[in-house]
Amino acid sequence: MRHLTLTFTWLLAGACTVQAPGGTTSRILEEPTQDTDGITRVLVYHDMEGLTGQSDPKTFRFAHTDRYAVGRTYLTGDVNAVVAGLFEGGADEVHIVDGHGSGNPEPDLLLEDLDPRAELVSRDAVFDAYVDLIEPGLYDAVAVVGMHAKTGSGGFASHTFTLGIDILFNDMSVTETEIVGYSWGRVGVPVIFASGDDRLALDLAGPMPWVEFVTVKTATSASTADPRPVDEARVELSATARRAMENYRNASSMRLEEPVQAVLHAVPPADLSMLDGVPGIKYRDQRVSFQASDFREAYDGLIELVTVARGGYSVVLSEVARGMSGEGLDLAYSDALFDRWLDFESGRWLPPELSPPSGRRTYHGFR
Ligand SMILES: [Zn+2]
Repeated sequence: MRHLTLTFTWLLAGACTVQAPGGTTSRILEEPTQDTDGITRVLVYHDMEGLTGQSDPKTFRFAHTDRYAVGRTYLTGDVNAVVAGLFEGGADEVHIVDGHGSGNPEPDLLLEDLDPRAELVSRDAVFDAYVDLIEPGLYDAVAVVGMHAKTGSGGFASHTFTLGIDILFNDMSVTETEIVGYSWGRVGVPVIFASGDDRLALDLAGPMPWVEFVTVKTATSASTADPRPVDEARVELSATARRAMENYRNASSMRLEEPVQAVLHAVPPADLSMLDGVPGIKYRDQRVSFQASDFREAYDGLIELVTVARGGYSVVLSEVARGMSGEGLDLAYSDALFDRWLDFESGRWLPPELSPPSGRRTYHGFR
């Protein structure tokens, strides 16, 4: 998975381009943008797979109520440890955003137990936590907590964006932490801190060596891990977040060279083979590639392709249906599909209107 056997070419003081193995320039590292408002503000992304004490995949899934409740305590403990370290290291304000998307309409964080100095980012409309908060001059640094390694890395719950998805920018397979880094790098903000398992540590060592990292567990498969003692790991989370904050000006912000070459690569349970042979679509071996003018265009295109690739999940649905009730559920599904077709064709059924987001609901990150 190492795509970064890199050479560094210094261009200007404080900026360098990084070359992919083929010699194509792929990304640019820069000094962080100077603070302009005199307030050192940090944005913390939390995920839910790379938590201290955690070795059960059900603990990051809202559907498994009891185990998820335990996962929320892991999450809140880790976030509090990092928030404390960031304040000790000199942060004036710490905001938190949900980068997980458990399906819980409420935040995964136990807000009553959250460090009261930290504030959860919320909006009155749906937003994408990776790309829609980007604003120059607001934040000085980004920290990520409870993250996981990328698809194919052998990490605990390793994936990128969602199940069976691998994302490449300019020939580099990336973790979600790097997606956050490239997104914030557009306004000169560096990722300074990360926590997760030993495989994520390896994923980030090449592309983001300046990130202060805490390994909270050792992955023994994608569904099992050996966690470190919780108290010991939390002490290190605080101390390392403090050090990251004290030195944040020495971190690098990172941007992709433009135009951006984007690739969506699907592995089971996702599938892109339905696009094989479509004129105008560059498909090969479960990979669809395209060129985009910048990071945002590449990201938006990839997310559309993720929706296509998730079509592969229906194979699992069919297997479950057969397993649960012989052919009965299969037949019910087949009949429902035919009814939908015939009803629409007869004017008896119309797709539901997309309801506009209600003013009263707030959104705190990935749904
Ligand atoms: Zn994630």
